[in-house]
Amino acid sequence: MEKEHINHCLVCKTKNCYHRKLDPKTSNCLEIDYAEEIRLEPSETELIYRANAAIQGAFERRTKGDFTLNWLKTFLKDFFGSQATVGVASCLGSVETARTVIEAIESEGMKAALVTCKLGGLTVKNVDKDGVPYEHPGCNPVAQAKILNELNVPVVVLVGLCIGHDMIFIKHCKSYVIPFITKMPLTFGTL
Ligand code: SF4
Repeated sequence: MEKEHINHCLVCKTKNCYHRKLDPKTSNCLEIDYAEEIRLEPSETELIYRANAAIQGAFERRTKGDFTLNWLKTFLKDFFGSQATVGVASCLGSVETARTVIEAIESEGMKAALVTCKLGGLTVKNVDKDGVPYEHPGCNPVAQAKILNELNVPVVVLVGLCIGHDMIFIKHCKSYVIPFITKMPLTFGTL
């Protein structure tokens, strides 16, 4: 039977998914339709647990450096292990921020593999606000993803990829992806 998807959660009065003790759940809840398909794998349950636990780890380290970096390195080491090589996909304009992220990763004994966005030197044709055509070096999130796929890294941290480019990267990347810093063009990608 074809499933009709409307905004059940917007109109739901019970929020029984949260208040489990109030079973039975609402009749319009998608959880009922997808009951056989929404189970987490044990590794996914573990990942969520480690991601949450890393918040506590970062809180405990709060006097020693940036909170989000502390979360990142705590989580990466706890879930992927100290022997992991972590992929870093960065904007070329965010290389110094990527350096900071890589140093944090390496401070925990892990390795990092960086691939920046202008890889391949693509030329992009554009037109300025006065209608004058010009060319500029373009980004290649497909190449970034495929090279990191070749390196077989278990996880990739995105550092300053432009919003929208990150969508292409995530579509082509075979690893877990952490969109750590997203860049809205003109506001840049910094910590
Ligand atoms: S109980 Fe179901 S319909 Fe209501 S908020 Fe939760 S998931 Fe959405």
